[in-house]
Amino acid sequence: PPPKRLIVVSNRVQPPTGEGAGNQGGLAVALSAALRESSGIWFGWSGEETENFNGHIDFQRNEGVTTATMHLEAQDIDEYYNGYANRTLWPLFHDRIDLAEFQREFEGGYQRANTRFAETLTPLIHQDDLIWVHDYHLIPLGRELRARGIRNRLGFFLHIPWPPTRLLLSLPHHRELVESLFSYDVVGFQTQDWLDSFFHYAQHKLGADVGADGIVTHQGRSLKAIACPIGIDCDAFTEMAHGQEALDACRKMEESAKGRAMILGVDRLDYSKGLQDRFLGYQRFLSTYPEMQEKVFLLQIAPPTREDVRSYQEIRTQLDALSGHINGEFATVDWVPIRYVNKGYPRTQLAGIYRAARIGLVTPLRDGMNLVAKEYVAAQDPDNPGVLILSSFAGAARQMQEALLVNPHSAEDVADAIARALVMPKEERLERWRALRDGVQREDVTWWLRRFVAELARPEAEGEDDR
Ligand code: UDP
Repeated sequence: PPPKRLIVVSNRVQPPTGEGAGNQGGLAVALSAALRESSGIWFGWSGEETENFNGHIDFQRNEGVTTATMHLEAQDIDEYYNGYANRTLWPLFHDRIDLAEFQREFEGGYQRANTRFAETLTPLIHQDDLIWVHDYHLIPLGRELRARGIRNRLGFFLHIPWPPTRLLLSLPHHRELVESLFSYDVVGFQTQDWLDSFFHYAQHKLGADVGADGIVTHQGRSLKAIACPIGIDCDAFTEMAHGQEALDACRKMEESAKGRAMILGVDRLDYSKGLQDRFLGYQRFLSTYPEMQEKVFLLQIAPPTREDVRSYQEIRTQLDALSGHINGEFATVDWVPIRYVNKGYPRTQLAGIYRAARIGLVTPLRDGMNLVAKEYVAAQDPDNPGVLILSSFAGAARQMQEALLVNPHSAEDVADAIARALVMPKEERLERWRALRDGVQREDVTWWLRRFVAELARPEAEGEDDR
């Protein structure tokens, strides 16, 4: 039978641009393929502002993919997106309760925006569509759709971590938020750790029944919770790393490195990425292993993000100061220890920069997955691969046990891992990299998508509650 029509809902949509793989991430490419195959729709916010919300939908078709977007009012954007999503849920779900802001207006805006998503989307839904909602911006959307009579299979995937219960308890109305997940049939998390935290809350705070098969039942409603880690399009990324643009970028990097080993970090400028601790770990490396000074350098690519939010402005100031301080302390007339770049690069070039790096240094304090770690592995030269140093607090660590796993809070741990990576025998480098590459290739973005959609498309379990 033809696949059921898929409706993907996310805060923002990323239609194919027609400008090649460099501009669209692996997730967008994979979702676009699934949408194309099922003649589906990708629905979300346009990113634009309107004076008066009126539910107008802008349909576009690009390379066989239909997107449907709506504008939101300035107040919605402020309270829902900049507010509840990025100033309340994001910090809390990344263990930064110190940065989480709890304001009633944010909650109101979040609810209002989710209602607007539901109202606008409902008329587009056909009887047999599979509906797949993405991420923390839209947790209550399932409940809002059910309230409008939608009885389709509904899935939700959380791209960020699920917090430990004791943290979640500090969120006003946490119970209402978690209970709204029970409007979905399938709820996916990146890792078993986040899934276990969800089970813990469901069991201990809701009194829900958690079955061995991941079926969680609460007040007569059941959902299936799964751990389903997202991947990258490994083959496409490897190919891109050998394309002309990547080769040019790689050569340029090698020339400017002048024989020094490059340590590479690539992260949005976000406090969850552990950039400060990373710089401190690198500083510790330079002072503990003085013989390595001038033989290495750290390239940190860190494009700014969410610049309207104060905690992001603050981290930027702190990193400017810290990188300046470390460079002042260690630099010589012809060597700068940290090249700190506040600019984003297209993936076609990034792929080449990854290739030129002897070490991929990926040390978030908390991360739902971390795709940079997987891209770094996919881009390496099979004859002479670099070493991945990975935080054990990134979701990716679960699948990437052959990386050098570190505690990103410990400067010594990071320093020692850098030293170890630099002298790692080629045999060991190859062995670790092959194992990592096999995993990244096997559990790629298509594997992830098929697994989730198969779960979503599963015929309804018997004893299904009445919706
Ligand atoms: N990225 C990019 N250009 C940059 C920096 C990052 O295209 O200058 C991409 C990177 O290739 C990766 C994504 O942004 O695909 C970051 O994903 P990740 O899961 O590592 O972190 P997130 O930003 O989603 O928290």
